Amino acid sequence: NEDLQSKYEELAAIDKRHFMHPTTSFKQQQEQGPKFIFTEGKGIYLKDIRGNWIIDGLSSLWNVNIGHGRPELGIAAMEQMKKLAFSSTFATNSHEPVIRLSEKVAEMMPGDLSMTFFTSGGSEANDTAFKTVRHYWELKGCFGKKKIISRKKSYHGVSVGASSATGLPAFRAFPSLAPDFYYVDSQIESLKNLIKEEGADTIAAFISEPIQGSGGVNLPPENYFKEVREICDQNNILFIADEVITGFGRTGKNFGMENFDAVPDIMVIAKGISSGYAPIGGMVISEKLKNELIELSEGVFMHGYTYSGHPMCCAVALKNLEIIEEENLIGNVRNMGDKMQEGFKWLKDRHEVISDVRGMGLLGAIELMKDKDTNTSFEQPLSVKVVEEALNHGLLGRSIIYEGQDTLAFAPPFCINKEQVEKIISIIDTSLTKVLKG
Ligand code: PLP
Repeated sequence: NEDLQSKYEELAAIDKRHFMHPTTSFKQQQEQGPKFIFTEGKGIYLKDIRGNWIIDGLSSLWNVNIGHGRPELGIAAMEQMKKLAFSSTFATNSHEPVIRLSEKVAEMMPGDLSMTFFTSGGSEANDTAFKTVRHYWELKGCFGKKKIISRKKSYHGVSVGASSATGLPAFRAFPSLAPDFYYVDSQIESLKNLIKEEGADTIAAFISEPIQGSGGVNLPPENYFKEVREICDQNNILFIADEVITGFGRTGKNFGMENFDAVPDIMVIAKGISSGYAPIGGMVISEKLKNELIELSEGVFMHGYTYSGHPMCCAVALKNLEIIEEENLIGNVRNMGDKMQEGFKWLKDRHEVISDVRGMGLLGAIELMKDKDTNTSFEQPLSVKVVEEALNHGLLGRSIIYEGQDTLAFAPPFCINKEQVEKIISIIDTSLTKVLKG
């Protein structure tokens, strides 16, 4: 359609001139312009301005969990904005949506995690957690306890604090990141050794995603988090779980850590709390930590964002959580997740180049390798080509390339059905076959 194409071209020219995209190369943006300009979404599908509907195989940024196009969330936003678009939550100010949402989050949380500080997203929430743990140790008179330990291949966001905690080297390739961040391998010995080397009295907290997302959908070793919990307790180190991707149902349980029998002291949330319909994240602290902070603190914790607990975002998040519960969407994650993981295994049996399939719930990955017997990777990552080919068949997925990893990642919306899972598997199958033939 010529009209749609000319509308695309008009917008693409403006995009190139004025819109600075997140995570893109300046050069590529100028040479190629936007690949898609999305105009609409419905369920697991997104529509491009040129009229094509494609499957959103990653729920956009692992966040549109309930799926696209739910008018109830728009109505919740409008009703709140008509009444009260904004008021502050600083100091002793409050409003009903933030109160109700913090209660709802506490109800869903495991263990005694019960009090939430709200932010606009995951990076701010991680920075908040780092400031909170350091503040806590200072209040306790442990002035040396400042270091934050995270894991290699982790992703915690892009603010200065969050990128300093991020283990993926590409995100740390900036000068002057924050000091006092350390990284460990995924074996428990690595954590034990670092604590020994640095001294427990210098370490404030350990942070980890239950399942690493951007690092390639990496599951923890067996019993890892149980042992982490014990080590943290023995050494007076606070344990932060970054549940930005895994929180609110992605793995088939409310929170990812529930799969691994460990309760952190602090949980970081974002994405799925509003399914991307409004920007909101947060840090949840345990009852124990809360009580200690109440007891210890005399001054003000000088930390707060203008949009901490934005009324509209809170109202949207509440409606999102209500829909997830009413429609038993987490039950569907378990059923469709099993189906998707079975489909991945079926693909592995069919394709020599698939060296591993892994995941949990509707979070999954397919690992590609030229020769799995000799551990040889493709010269040019295959996942990039498969993702490109899959787009020609109407599926949006993600390629993750990292130190020999050549991974296809998928995390479709929770509202997906059996036929749609089969469609995703069939597109991957076709795309992989085609790319290998080419
Ligand atoms: N933590 C994890 C595990 C994430 O996956 C992300 C984003 O992808 C973040 C933190 C950062 O969240 P945001 O992009 O909302 O700042």
